[in-house]
Amino acid sequence: MVGIHLSAQVASWLVTSRNLYLAIHVLGIASFLYIVSRRLVPLVRAQCDPRFDRPVARLGRVWKYWLGQWKHPRYKFAGTLHILIFAGFILLALRAFSFLIVGVSPNFVMPGLSGEMGHVYDLATDYAATIVFLCMVIAVLRRLVFKPARYAVPARFGKSRTADAVFLLGLIAVLMVADSVYAASHAAKFAQQSQAVESLAYLSLPWVLQVAFRSMSLATLGGLIAGAYLAHEITFYFLLCYRPFGIQFHVETSLFSIYFAKLDRGTIKPVRWGVADENLDQVKSFGVKTFEDFTWKHILDFYSCADCGRCADNCPAYAVGRPLAPRFITTKARDYAFHHYPVLGKANNSKALIGTIYSEDEIWSCTTCGACEEECPLLVEYIDKIVDLRRGMIDDGNVPQSLQKPLKALESRGNPYGKMEKKRADWTKPVASQLNGNVPVLDGKNAADTLYFVDSITSYDDRMQSIGRATARILTQIGTNFGILGAAEKDSGHDVLRFGEETLFMALRDHNTEAIKESGVEKIVTADPHAFNALKHDYKNVPPVEHISQVLAREVKAGNIQFNRIDDSDKVYVYHDPCYLGRHNQVYEDPRHVLDAIPGLKRVEMQRSRDRSFCCGGGGLMLFYEPKEDQRMGVVRVKMAAEAGANVIVTACPFCMVNIEDAIKVAGMEGKMSVIDLTELADQQMIRDVCPRELETATAGG
Ligand code: SF4
Ligand code: SF4
Repeated sequence: MVGIHLSAQVASWLVTSRNLYLAIHVLGIASFLYIVSRRLVPLVRAQCDPRFDRPVARLGRVWKYWLGQWKHPRYKFAGTLHILIFAGFILLALRAFSFLIVGVSPNFVMPGLSGEMGHVYDLATDYAATIVFLCMVIAVLRRLVFKPARYAVPARFGKSRTADAVFLLGLIAVLMVADSVYAASHAAKFAQQSQAVESLAYLSLPWVLQVAFRSMSLATLGGLIAGAYLAHEITFYFLLCYRPFGIQFHVETSLFSIYFAKLDRGTIKPVRWGVADENLDQVKSFGVKTFEDFTWKHILDFYSCADCGRCADNCPAYAVGRPLAPRFITTKARDYAFHHYPVLGKANNSKALIGTIYSEDEIWSCTTCGACEEECPLLVEYIDKIVDLRRGMIDDGNVPQSLQKPLKALESRGNPYGKMEKKRADWTKPVASQLNGNVPVLDGKNAADTLYFVDSITSYDDRMQSIGRATARILTQIGTNFGILGAAEKDSGHDVLRFGEETLFMALRDHNTEAIKESGVEKIVTADPHAFNALKHDYKNVPPVEHISQVLAREVKAGNIQFNRIDDSDKVYVYHDPCYLGRHNQVYEDPRHVLDAIPGLKRVEMQRSRDRSFCCGGGGLMLFYEPKEDQRMGVVRVKMAAEAGANVIVTACPFCMVNIEDAIKVAGMEGKMSVIDLTELADQQMIRDVCPRELETATAGG
């Protein structure tokens, strides 16, 4: 259309119809602006969210995730389809605008697209319209015939959106056909009048239609041109105004949603942006209770979700039958927004979200594993929203029964087990003789460069204490001048924060920060990814922290650590990525590097590994929560390891260890599958002069 020269008859017809087209333009644009302004009302009433920093990083995100469609190929077929449609839309945008303007200004040619350039553009867009049309046909067939499981909506989460999706896909197909019919009938008419006409792209939809229209009379072709133009105009504006009522609103909002997406992995948003911790007592209500308690960005997320189902498809809670699927957290909120903030009429008063659109169990079911956020092509956020909803429940006193005891114990004793503070360093006793003395407690009498932050589970759980001892032996072996906080250490509070207990988290954080500062250390090492994430992202002003797998990998690369050969040829190892080491902190290769440095170790990969790892079920105080579920996440994970051909699961997190060890028993796979922590394996295989490897056996029960 950009380069097509209109025949005099068509031009005159367009001139006489100009007022009609002008009226359609004005009505269409005004309606769209009005609808969008109404959609903005809840964003204006929502909580603030400072997302205007770091413009370069944000533009980089737009470049990569919006224009580059970076995440789409994670689902090969649907991703390719989406990339083709997106590229087609980008190409066709100028053609569509030219098309609209031609109605009121018949001789309009888009600047820069006249002559040869315009002809090349027309050929490209002939193909683009064809490809988008074919993609629509395929997408409709997928929705109606092949029905991928991830599009299904279980009854408990609402009603199917297939009809809406198919209707919208159909409208886009109509738009492409109208565009092509216009181009084809126009070209056919020129040809019949023996006027010079630019050729249409060979075998494109306009080209095929032109061949079909060849024998039509001039009058019929004139009618087709008028009809196609009108159909295109009406469909274009109908689509524009209909999209803000459903899943296709993402066409307008996704660019903004991606630009304003969260930049800092592993963090949790504050209770209220702009309110300092010391002023939190002035905040009347914590967290999200009503719709307006969400931030404007989180409401923008609700508008931007394309309902593709990828988040739920990767959610471990959904996979094991818990009452949670991230996709529906969004779609239920969007439906709520559309209902309570109607385009026509007044906004309704907001009701409490828990008990109306969300259930308590649904919100407690999340492990904060981050798989949903990792997968979403539009960077929709979930963890902050879920934590905010939990803060709201905690503020109202709604704490699950099974979590009340550990929370009280954390408050009074600094650990969820209610054990004595003075016993926090008891795990070190069996290793004292082999480390040439006790692990130093940095209590003012001892000093060290490095703090080994142990955290509660490794300090108190009999089985996990082995990880602590292995870590201490590794640090000693590589000559680290380290110590622990002992009784002065409290739980890092990582999962307390994600559980929504802000005040308790702040007390734990402040206590530990003070103790760390007093210890005078310059570095922190931990073997617990939850503590690692807390110290790295939730604490401020503490020395830099490393996970032990990073230390091990560095020492292996430097040649300071060498391993004995694994002689058991029957053992096949697989590494399970802990969520708070992998997805939240991007430590994927270091643990694998350590494993691959052990001579004779046979290692396989699970299909769901690295950023697609499947949560063991241990995050967010889940060790103490009893969710409604069909099976345990750990059991699913153990089966995945078996499917990969492994019989030893290596992990690098005490929470994963507890869950997987338990899951092996539940799945009846004892003797066929075992689990070991990376520190235990490294410690066991390490070549050394001191520290006999039989230590654990010798000191068992000691
Ligand atoms: S963070 Fe994990 S458990 Fe929570 S909704 Fe997302 S995928 Fe599901
Ligand atoms: S949140 Fe993202 S991944 Fe989930 S359904 Fe929406 S667009 Fe898809």
